Formats: sequence, structure tokens, C-alpha cells
Amino acid sequence: MLRESAAQEEIPTVTLHSKKDSLQKIEYLSYFSSYTKIVRMFGWILRFLNNARKTTKKITDENLSTEELKNAEIRLLSVVQDEELTSDYIQTLKLNIFKDDDGLLKVKTKVTEREDTEDFKRPIVLPGKHQLVHLLIREKHLNKLHAGLHIMMSCLHENFWIISGRKTIRKVINQCLQCKRHSSKAVETAPIGLPLDRFVLIKLLTMFVNQKVGV
Ligand SMILES: [Zn+2]
Repeated sequence: MLRESAAQEEIPTVTLHSKKDSLQKIEYLSYFSSYTKIVRMFGWILRFLNNARKTTKKITDENLSTEELKNAEIRLLSVVQDEELTSDYIQTLKLNIFKDDDGLLKVKTKVTEREDTEDFKRPIVLPGKHQLVHLLIREKHLNKLHAGLHIMMSCLHENFWIISGRKTIRKVINQCLQCKRHSSKAVETAPIGLPLDRFVLIKLLTMFVNQKVGV
């Protein structure tokens, strides 16, 4: 989950609807290349909606609070789940999925009885194909200094259960230009034979030296 402190930033211009659950279809994802930026943008939208209501207390802080960011992330992931995880699709997954108090779909893992963090025991289910999930993996990959598949799977599993996770994480890592650059091999060329004139010259020189030294 997002734990970074909020930085001062401009409120993005996004067309809003007044209905409570109208934040469907995250079409504006393509405007941002970072998961954190999208969560923050969502945080500003939620604050705007909150302040637009007459009955709620207005929030006037310069920055988004940790609670606002956490709430924004939950709402955002909830929209992602609504977009991709239909009830029919969920039934095809052989997972013990339930909805938590925040309305997020989570998985009851086999380590439920073990003493561990709640997020690890009941991670948030995410569709592997969604663009936001790719951005989340990408950001984690950068934060973990371009970690490989196994480290990435372990880190992400602390909070998330990504469907087709291994395949999705590998795909995102394979798209990382820095990783590609470091793993690429130097171009090797086949040795070229000496030109005939140089070959003859070397042979004559060898014969001359051998005659001189009497070999
Ligand atoms: Zn990388």
C-alpha cells in the first residue's frame, strides 16, 4: 500500500460526476506514468468531492494526508476490481475471495491462521491485465532497484494477490529499458580471415626468418 507522504502538487483538471460511485472507468490513467501520481490525483478528486458536500467538514490542508492517500488507493483499487473482476470471472478462479469492510476483494490464503500481517494473510485481489496494476508493478520494480521476478513476487504478495502474477510481473520487468540494457550482451562478430596479400607476406617473412636463424 502507499505509504509515502504527500507532496504539494497541483489539482488536476478532471471532469467529475456527482454520483457517489461514478468514478468508474479510469480513462485518464494514460495521462500519468506513475502509480503514486494516479493515487494522489484520485486523492485530490476525493477531497474535492468531500468539500463539495454541504454536510461534511471541509479539508483545507495544503497536502493530502496519509489517511486521504490510503483512502484514495482503496477507492482506486476498488474501481479496478469493478472493471475487471466480474462475479462470473471470480467464480472461475479457484480462490477463496471475500469482500472486506472497505469493499475491496481479498483472498483468504492458507496462511490465515499464522501470525503475520493482515495484508499478507488476506491480500487484495488484482487483475493482471489492468494498466494500473502494471504501473503498480513497475513502480515497485523501480523502488526495489530493478529487482527480479522472485523478489518482486515476494514484495507484491505482502499486499496484493495479482491474478497471473508471475506472467504479469515478468512482462513488466521485460519492458524495463534499464534492465534490458544491463542484461544485453555485447555484440560479437565472427573473426574475419586475413586478406590474401597479408597472408602471403606473413608466410614469406616466416620463411625468411627461419632461413636466417637456420631452423
Ligand atoms: Zn528494471
